[in-house]
Amino acid sequence: MQNVQVQSNSNGILKKSTDSSKFIHKLLIPFASLMIIILCSFTISLFYIISEEQSFSFIDNRATNTQITAENMYQNSLQSNVNATLAMLTMLRQDRKLAALFEKKDHTALYNHTEALYNDLFRHYQITHFYFTEPNRINLLRVHAPQKSGDRIDRVTTLNAQLSGAPEWGIELGVLGTITLRVVAPWQHAETGKLIGYIELGMELDHIFKSLNNIYDMEVAVIVFKEFLNEERWSSGMKLLNRDANWDQYSDVVIAGNNKAIPQVMENYLKSIDHEHNTNVLNLKEKDHTYWLMNIPIVDVKQNEIAHAILLTDVSAEMQAIKQTAKAVGITIFIVGLILIILFYSLAKTVKIRISNEAQLLNQLASKDGLTLLYNRRAFNDFLAIEINRSKRFNHPISLIMIDVDHFKKINDNYGHPAGDTVLKVLSQRLIQESRQEDYVCRYGGEEFAVILPETPLHEASKFANRLIKIIESLPIEINKDDSKQVLKITVSIGLVSNLGDSCSSQQIICEADKALYQAKYEGRNRMCIAK
Ligand code: GH3
Ligand code: MG
Ligand code: MG
Repeated sequence: MQNVQVQSNSNGILKKSTDSSKFIHKLLIPFASLMIIILCSFTISLFYIISEEQSFSFIDNRATNTQITAENMYQNSLQSNVNATLAMLTMLRQDRKLAALFEKKDHTALYNHTEALYNDLFRHYQITHFYFTEPNRINLLRVHAPQKSGDRIDRVTTLNAQLSGAPEWGIELGVLGTITLRVVAPWQHAETGKLIGYIELGMELDHIFKSLNNIYDMEVAVIVFKEFLNEERWSSGMKLLNRDANWDQYSDVVIAGNNKAIPQVMENYLKSIDHEHNTNVLNLKEKDHTYWLMNIPIVDVKQNEIAHAILLTDVSAEMQAIKQTAKAVGITIFIVGLILIILFYSLAKTVKIRISNEAQLLNQLASKDGLTLLYNRRAFNDFLAIEINRSKRFNHPISLIMIDVDHFKKINDNYGHPAGDTVLKVLSQRLIQESRQEDYVCRYGGEEFAVILPETPLHEASKFANRLIKIIESLPIEINKDDSKQVLKITVSIGLVSNLGDSCSSQQIICEADKALYQAKYEGRNRMCIAK
């Protein structure tokens, strides 16, 4: 029974070990489960973030910035075109021959003098309009359309130049929805300062919109608000130009310029209502594609928002890339988290094994006597209580013997304490050898031993005790004294108690055995006495 573990309730160290094991189950495992829940929630939220609606915001900023830069680019191009045109007008007004022809109101000579110049301006500077207008605003010559003249020019830019007496510029809408930049400068005689008339250069803004298309690689179209057009004049003009145009195609806008084929998504957008003043970046969907649509407002000389340049870009690939990246990040986090949890579990398992090993060791240390390696008194008390209960429950016999070495003090005194220790160790080994597997051999204290004999009636226990007395009596014990070996012999006295009554407690039984042992000592030692 030397390997039986003691389930001691009184042992604090043992309790602590069991507590540590419980700590793993009660705290670490719920903690790991909590970590899994947190990890799952985190991953789910991440996948939510990368859901379609949320992904828009990733590229929304970029789209807004693009809209701002495109609008700036439009304004800058417009201003540099205005500046270039003003410079051209300044140069023209320094041409004395041109001034003389203008003053003479010589239509043909003026045309002959400026035709080549106009062709150059058209080719290199996108100038599409070139006017000479008299001080009363009657047109003298349209170099770009010489057959048409003699009408009064009532356009705002010319009126502004007449009013201010200085060069004026602005965007004006043609009847067909053409958007034209017009720059008009009054022309005074170099010497007299008398007004000769007005000279005007103009350009259609298509080239600016084309350059937007080139720079941003976006589909660009210009829409004009119908409220600034005359349906009849627009429709008949379009018919004259042989263009396939339908005024009612869209509710509030028409497309400026040629009716080129536009993407379906843009077509759907134009068919929706109320485009005016809607200058937010819009996201649109068509089949599996996602688009951003931006509106750049075009403001005319009267400060009316007459048109929008609309820019369309397909951002499906970009969205896909963002989603893929976010997915990859999500999966990576999940895998890393999973690995951490697995590591955590294996670590917890290792800790658990260690704790249970240590608990086992502590168990042994707590129940064994350090010198003899027999069960100690605490273990003895536990075993005795258990075995007495068992014997009572099944009405089986049980016996207990208490063994005390005779005159042990003398051994210590004569041979020294280490020799006394050796005697105790040898005696213990012998007790183990002589007892059965099911007996409990314990060191009760000092040179006293106790053997619990379960399932053993009085006559068998008595036989065992007498056998022990004989064996120990003849047992040679080798000890070291003064660097030489000596052999000792010892005797023991035994108190035996057996066939315990129902009402007996451990303490009473020990007391009975002690009494019997005392009796054996009293009767002369090296003998066994049975409790009455
Ligand atoms: P008796 O026959 O009446 O039992 O006499 P005794 O000398 O054996 O009994 P006593 O109680 O007078 O002395 C017991 C001695 O055992 C006293 C103590 O110093 C010694 N002793 C107790 N534990 C140990 C131990 O672990 N090692 C050694 N060497 N001696 C011990
Ligand atoms: Mg004693
Ligand atoms: Mg003694």
